[in-house]
Amino acid sequence: MQQIQQPIHPGQIGFDIDCVVADTMEAFIRLAEQEHNIAIAPEEITDFIVEKCLAIDPAIIEAIFLPLLEDPLQNNLRPMPHAVMVLEKFASRAPLTFITARPDRAPIHAWLEALLGPRIMKDARLVAMGDHNGKIDHIKELGISHFIDDRFETCEMIAAHGLTAIVYNQPWNTKRHCLPTVTNWLEIEALCTPEHKQCSQPAALIKTAVSP
Ligand SMILES: [Mg+2]
Repeated sequence: MQQIQQPIHPGQIGFDIDCVVADTMEAFIRLAEQEHNIAIAPEEITDFIVEKCLAIDPAIIEAIFLPLLEDPLQNNLRPMPHAVMVLEKFASRAPLTFITARPDRAPIHAWLEALLGPRIMKDARLVAMGDHNGKIDHIKELGISHFIDDRFETCEMIAAHGLTAIVYNQPWNTKRHCLPTVTNWLEIEALCTPEHKQCSQPAALIKTAVSP
């Protein structure tokens, strides 16, 4: 497996949004139950293209995803645990970069702004491509060297161009690739934290031989 050179400067890393920053599958499962009376267990979602793994009419799947694309705020799309805290820390060191396959920028910009505040989002870079393919072109244009995505095909494409792709572990990507992975936002934070900071002890706990 490819090793990641650490620490990564936050200005060098970009993020996919759905299922990386946003807990889109939680919202998908919740809306399926609330709006369509369909119960889905998280472990049933074993493919990025959910039509492939769920025996649900594709038109209904589209009807569940549409409100999350058009109005993620109103439909209570939630961030992944610790994502906001880590992104706020990164934003204090460099502008944030997001590249999403979502077709419309405005709704997801409003969602990010509600989470992170206008000051952080004023400096942030957000690309809504409207396509799952071609993220590499934007990554190169934005001058970042690392990208985190839950779609392993995207990550493999990025890695094929000599950049560092990190797969955000999800049931639909596990054991399907040989790339570095992260499982949560605390691991992402650790990737960008200089080692001496990760290992440092709070001053109050450091005792010496002459400590009382
Ligand atoms: Mg995604």
